Amino acid sequence: MTREVILATGNAGKQREFAALLAPLDWTVIRQSERGVIPAPEEGMTFMENALAKARAASAQTGLPALADDSGLVVDALGGAPGVHSARYAGPNAQDADNVRHLLAALEPVGEMERSAHFYCVIVYLRHAADPEPLIGQGRWEGRILTAPQGTGGFGYDPVFWVPEQGCSAAELDPAVKNRLSHRGRALAALRTQLMAADD
Ligand code: IMP
Repeated sequence: MTREVILATGNAGKQREFAALLAPLDWTVIRQSERGVIPAPEEGMTFMENALAKARAASAQTGLPALADDSGLVVDALGGAPGVHSARYAGPNAQDADNVRHLLAALEPVGEMERSAHFYCVIVYLRHAADPEPLIGQGRWEGRILTAPQGTGGFGYDPVFWVPEQGCSAAELDPAVKNRLSHRGRALAALRTQLMAADD
């Protein structure tokens, strides 16, 4: 029988990614916005806390198993910033370009060799709101922050994220290549392995 799972996002692009992840399991992925879920506030100090809070709220309000992710950019020279604040680094209503400008300004005095960074993504699956044993997939994508934006694809910090093994910025990558290499792609693959092993 097809199982319904609630996805703690209102983003249709993420729904497609997760539906593809779950295709082998014959699950139906429903966005939380389709069920009127009031999203959990993202107040955690870690990606993990935020993902768990989002999944727990979605599951509690729908009675369904839930999936949630959280991701961001972690810059070594900035002590891990912007981290869980990646989406709002330049302020509460910041757009991608504002966040990129803010990041480049913060890194202005930092030399090329000290500009290492990575994207991080965690995806959690809760069988029910009180599940004490969530399934967790994590992914990291290592790179370096450029001194000026390069490329027009992708979103967020992609234009300033240099991908050494490809010799270009994340915004210059073919989307299929990015999905394979990225923190989100790796976290999805790690979670899929666990979901398939746990499916009964
Ligand atoms: P969220 O997990 O969708 O809330 O993403 C948090 C923020 O991290 C986004 O708004 C972006 O600023 C940044 N981010 C996460 N993943 C990526 C990526 O693949 N490329 C560029 N920026 C990203």
